[in-house]
Amino acid sequence: MEDHHSHEQRQVVDLVRRFNDNEIRPRAEQIHQDDTFPRDLWDKMAGLGLMGIGIPPEYGGSGGDLMTAVLAIQAIRDCAGLALSYGAHLNLCAHNILRSGTREQKARFLPGLASGHRIGALAITEPDAGSDATAIRTKARRDGDFYVLDGTKTFITNAPVADLVVIYAKTNPEAGAMGISAFVVPAGSPGFSVSRELRKMGHHGSPTGEIILDSCRVPAENLLGRENMGIQVMMAGLDVERAFFAGAAIGLAERAMELALDYARQRSQFGRPLARFQLIQTKLADMYTGIEAARGLAYRAVREAQEAERGGKGSPIHRLAAAALCFAAQTAENVVYESLQIHGGYGYMEEYEISRLYRDVRLFTIGAGTQEIRRLLIGRELLGL
Ligand SMILES: Cc1cc2nc3c(=O)[nH]c(=O)nc-3n(C[C@H](O)[C@H](O)[C@H](O)COP(=O)(O)OP(=O)(O)OC[C@H]3O[C@@H](n4cnc5c(N)ncnc54)[C@H](O)[C@@H]3O)c2cc1C
Repeated sequence: MEDHHSHEQRQVVDLVRRFNDNEIRPRAEQIHQDDTFPRDLWDKMAGLGLMGIGIPPEYGGSGGDLMTAVLAIQAIRDCAGLALSYGAHLNLCAHNILRSGTREQKARFLPGLASGHRIGALAITEPDAGSDATAIRTKARRDGDFYVLDGTKTFITNAPVADLVVIYAKTNPEAGAMGISAFVVPAGSPGFSVSRELRKMGHHGSPTGEIILDSCRVPAENLLGRENMGIQVMMAGLDVERAFFAGAAIGLAERAMELALDYARQRSQFGRPLARFQLIQTKLADMYTGIEAARGLAYRAVREAQEAERGGKGSPIHRLAAAALCFAAQTAENVVYESLQIHGGYGYMEEYEISRLYRDVRLFTIGAGTQEIRRLLIGRELLGL
């Protein structure tokens, strides 16, 4: 816990850590085995006010800021799947509506999300448009008081359980990036369906799905931001998302280091605990150093993201948020790798928690823009390209 965190932020961290240790940890392995969304844990988290962090009380939220939300996701560190679903709901959906919605939209959508009764998601990615988000093919055409959406979205976190999805579609396909708009789409809308749930190597318990939009009718008042200006909503959202998910990667790395410390103390070879070997101590020292550095960078990006007037190309937060997630993801990869190494053959056995973390950590270099795209973005920003 950092000195500069407020009293309220420390209270939230204490609350979420207790919930993690008492309620999530004993269930984490079973959630991994079953790979089903733990709705009961979700509802308990909602009961603690976690689904409304960063959302003002006038919209049903529990207040707090982005940093509070980051500290919360970081503390949900024993079940990466639950943390991912939480992040998609709170940050990708609710915070995006808060940032870009009208007063009427916020009043209509946020209370249900903040209470956790409604689950949120965000859909950009399509089968042929991943890193190049401007290549999306989903189209939205105006029809009286409605927009009609047609297309397919894939890899969408929470899609199988979501009630509200922020969806990006082309309203002017000829205009490229300047022809994209964002919509808040209720899952019950005519023409909306989830075609299948996708099986993943990790992050079990977080349902991922494919969404089909087949002449899906969405009221015109659900347009988020201005027509054809969705790229602004998307880019501002992505900057915050990167800073936010750095917290999730750090939480997972912290857990992996904890496991390494415990194991190194308890396992003996050559007549003494592994912890006595300097080569093991070096690994532990590097884990600690990486995690501290990742926290410093991530927290700075989060502070700047919450102050930033706007994100996207040319704004300082654009490269800082990408750097924060790039570094946190690489650190988490290194820490989990070395923690498993310290566990030796036992770490390769599925009954050891570190083997689960090894599967989970892989996502952090891919989701929210890959490591390559984060570096491309930083390079371009530095060069002013
Ligand atoms: C578990 C999971 C959950 C997800 N949740 C969501 C969600 O909720 N909402 C959503 O919209 N999306 C979600 N995604 C999608 C995610 O954001 C994309 O997977 C990611 O952006 C990469 O796109 P892609 O998978 O199509 O890879 P591609 O874009 O096909 O990339 C493949 C490889 O090529 C590299 N590459 C691509 N372009 C370049 C380039 N110009 N230079 C160098 N290398 C390049 C990439 O870095 C990568 O290594 C999720 C993905 C996963 C796996």
